[in-house]
Amino acid sequence: MRFAVLQLTGCAGCEVSLLNAGEELDLAKLAYMPLVVTAHDVPGVDVLLVTGGIRTDEDLLKLRESASRVKKIIAVGTCAISGGVAGLGDRHDIRELFLANTHQGRVPRMLPKCRPIDTEVKVDNYLPGCPPVPSLFVQLLNEPESLKSTSIVCKECGRRKPKDVRPTTLAHEIHKDADPELCLVKQGQLCVGTSTRNGCGAICPRAGFPCVGCRGPSNNLIEKDANAWFSSLIKVFAHMTDIDSQEISEALKSPHLALFLFQFSDYSDTELESRPKEKVL
Ligand code: SF4
Ligand code: SF4
Ligand code: SF4
Repeated sequence: MRFAVLQLTGCAGCEVSLLNAGEELDLAKLAYMPLVVTAHDVPGVDVLLVTGGIRTDEDLLKLRESASRVKKIIAVGTCAISGGVAGLGDRHDIRELFLANTHQGRVPRMLPKCRPIDTEVKVDNYLPGCPPVPSLFVQLLNEPESLKSTSIVCKECGRRKPKDVRPTTLAHEIHKDADPELCLVKQGQLCVGTSTRNGCGAICPRAGFPCVGCRGPSNNLIEKDANAWFSSLIKVFAHMTDIDSQEISEALKSPHLALFLFQFSDYSDTELESRPKEKVL
């Protein structure tokens, strides 16, 4: 299966993660990826992985041209799925900063808003993550039929959740003396692994850092309005802790979580259909 990687506006973290899969991938089948394979255009391939959001006129042109030459398109990473970090450029102050510097070089023209790639081309599958971990790329390219998320990050994490441990306030720092076996929520951390789709091996909570939900909502929430995920998380914290729900609600609105909590938000106010869970890997 020949594949190519089209990089739109993002941070290149998705590409680095793919390369970190190293010898487990047959890179001889990689036909295009500007970071490592020199070619002018995306050639005809079986699978095109698209990373990054549509932020500039150059992104839009490249995506349209490439889509006509490939059999299958996979949106890889939060930026391609919902704009992600690239979408932060929609902020007025950042946009002004960029526009003020356009005279200094030949830079692509910014579009009014950053858009997910499925606003422009038909997407066959979505691989969420920021970035998706290397093992997900291995599965995607070597045995795609095995790549189905059916559970949540907690199942891969394995930390204990004793009923009688109930923190009363959110911890705002990760303590060096934190219990390595105890669920981070039970230590007052804002970990959203309880409703985040599995597949990453719980790399963050296993290392002591709360899951921020980059893999997106689990299957039972993914086709619902993003508020359903939001409400579900507040209920989980009410069930597992004695922390005031208003405090949880405010903390969940932090920008680094909002990027991920709303990445599959429904399109009810647009002409686009919501993403069916069968397409989300
Ligand atoms: S999804 Fe994350 S890792 Fe991938 S390009 Fe966007 S910001 Fe970078
Ligand atoms: S630390 Fe997070 S991912 Fe691990 S069990 Fe607790 S809530 Fe789930
Ligand atoms: S643990 Fe959560 S934040 Fe970390 S990679 Fe997995 S889904 Fe993403």
